[in-house]
Amino acid sequence: MDRLTRKYIIGWLNTDKPEDLFRTADKIRKAYCTDKIHIRGIIEFSNHCKRDCLYCGLRKSNKNITRYRMDEAEILHSAVKAGNLGYKTILLQSGEDEAYSIDRLCRVVSSIKKKVDCAITLSIGEKSLDDYKRLKEAGADRYLLRFETSDEKLFKKLKPDSSYKSRLSCIENLIKLGYQVGSGIIVGLPGQAFETLADDILLMKKLELDMIGIGPFLPHHNTPLCAAPSGTLDLTLRVLSLIRIAMPDTHIPATTAVGTVDATGRQQALKCGCNVIMPNITPSKYRKFYEIYPDKICIGEKLSDCRSCVEKIIKSLGRNISKDYGHSLNKKPQTF
Ligand code: SAH
Repeated sequence: MDRLTRKYIIGWLNTDKPEDLFRTADKIRKAYCTDKIHIRGIIEFSNHCKRDCLYCGLRKSNKNITRYRMDEAEILHSAVKAGNLGYKTILLQSGEDEAYSIDRLCRVVSSIKKKVDCAITLSIGEKSLDDYKRLKEAGADRYLLRFETSDEKLFKKLKPDSSYKSRLSCIENLIKLGYQVGSGIIVGLPGQAFETLADDILLMKKLELDMIGIGPFLPHHNTPLCAAPSGTLDLTLRVLSLIRIAMPDTHIPATTAVGTVDATGRQQALKCGCNVIMPNITPSKYRKFYEIYPDKICIGEKLSDCRSCVEKIIKSLGRNISKDYGHSLNKKPQTF
């Protein structure tokens, strides 16, 4: 869209009256994505992480956390249960945990694909081109890897043991391999200006991403950013709306972080361009330990409760649940 310049984006981030922006995003979502909402079930299979990102509760320096790993049988069991509840996408997420070899991860992916009629999305961090290739061959369809911020200096400060260039090259490798690729940012990070957010949105568009996940920054008490202010729902809704205007047919979830910053956050996000929601299907005994940020919603709920809560939200908005895989709207899925 020609009018989507840096100046235009910054103008909307600054305005006193964002309602027109929200309405436009909602109209575009309806025109390109219809009223269907795609549901993705997330299994958070390990909270071990080798990295030390300043914002994240799973960072390796956090010693006040009970670490867990689900074994292959447990992951498969959760995926089968989700399949029986009608989930058509299973998202496997973890910290960057090298205890799972690529052989093991490939086995998990292919065994889920054999038993459950679903698409598989991975969100397991930075890996080599060859690892990504093997996971794709094992049956993974999609991959989520947020670039977190397009400000290279801020990236280095917040992710001291990674680099912006290597994260970006991972995203490019995933695109090259034919994955449906999702990326995104955290909104309201300390040190992030409106100019940064504008550059973030322009980069998302340039990468032609199939999915964009964003959420407000939520400070975690056991991290160096414990005293920083949290990101706001208002700014997150503005960024979501601008992303929808920039990328009319990309899949955009109303994330758990949006629902955590405000009890009606996901409902509002679904009215500002979002067309995806991702209920937690991690076994409840592990859920409270996957504490990326505090007070995460859906902690105590049973798998079927999360599903019915999300169904209620969708119904209250007059929208409906998609029954298909919810593949990218601008790419034909490759199957192996
Ligand atoms: N290890 C995977 C998954 C990371 S967790 C990876 O490297 O991609 C998923 C996302 O949670 C992160 O990409 C980050 O954007 C978000 N996140 C982490 N800490 C957060 C916090 N304190 N507030 C809001 N979002 C956070």
